[in-house]
Amino acid sequence: MSLCTRCGGKPLYTRRYSGEILCSSCFRDSIVQKTRRTVSKYGMLEPHDRIAVAVSGGKDSLSLLKVLCELYPPRRNEIIAISVDEGVAGYRDEALEHAHAVAEDLDVEHVVVSYKDLFGFSLDEALDWKEERPISSCSFCGVFRRRALDEAADRAKATVVATAHNLDDYIQTFMMNLMHGDVERLGWLDPAYVDNSFPVRRVKPFMEIYEEEVALYAFLTGIPFQSVSCPYMHEGLRSEVRDYLNIMEANHPGIKNVLLRSSLDVIYRYALSSKKEAVPCRSCGMPSSNGLCNVCRMKAEVEEHVNIQRNSGSVGGG
Ligand code: SF4
Ligand code: ZN
Repeated sequence: MSLCTRCGGKPLYTRRYSGEILCSSCFRDSIVQKTRRTVSKYGMLEPHDRIAVAVSGGKDSLSLLKVLCELYPPRRNEIIAISVDEGVAGYRDEALEHAHAVAEDLDVEHVVVSYKDLFGFSLDEALDWKEERPISSCSFCGVFRRRALDEAADRAKATVVATAHNLDDYIQTFMMNLMHGDVERLGWLDPAYVDNSFPVRRVKPFMEIYEEEVALYAFLTGIPFQSVSCPYMHEGLRSEVRDYLNIMEANHPGIKNVLLRSSLDVIYRYALSSKKEAVPCRSCGMPSSNGLCNVCRMKAEVEEHVNIQRNSGSVGGG
């Protein structure tokens, strides 16, 4: 039996793309050290940063929170967990409970904002269109989620938002942008790109780690797994792209790493020519590319196409 390549201990995981065999402890350590290298390589965090970790309550984001707390123990007070409650019946409540429990366990402050409070409707209400919607649920949800994260980061007084996008998410997004003809958006994937349409800087410390390795890290460190997934998740192109890339990786170990490198190469060349100045949205004042931000545009569409029973909550934030 082959033993752990690093310490000679009991083997647990074989990294097929590198041939490395790792025991549980060396595997967990490799994830923490890989995150440290990514953060340093792309200059993601500054010494003075107050870091808001976006935690959905899923395994990836809770793993990120745990890894950053382990990497930066002296800055523990400068790490905050932020969550968005989209308002999906039977799904988000469990995730938020997990998020809260892990944040409490790590002694990290947890700030939660909801679509209902910020925009006046839950995601369930907003997706209940009278006729067919022009975009997928996740694209729709994503616009509001980004704004909600900005709001949560602002409440937490954070200077940077760390999201748990992993290598798989990254290359899926790259391929989807190509397939949608959104070549201009490729520049936004530059890890060092400061997107002026976000008031708070975004970083992705897990962008060089495979999704399956984040899942294994979560399992080995006892992070709770959510029993239900979002009911809107399987719509759209992303799940087809994900399946395709997983088949390619199974047949050609390491191909996802190669695709990440190629994506970054294209992104760097493109990013130089695709940076645009943001202008304030004429409706809400937040940064936008053309004078009306996506949140305000989509809110107007929801109000036109959806019957919403408004409560007395505010309809601010966008
Ligand atoms: Fe929103 Fe899609 Fe995530 Fe569901 S899976 S919460 S619709 S982004
Ligand atoms: Zn706006």
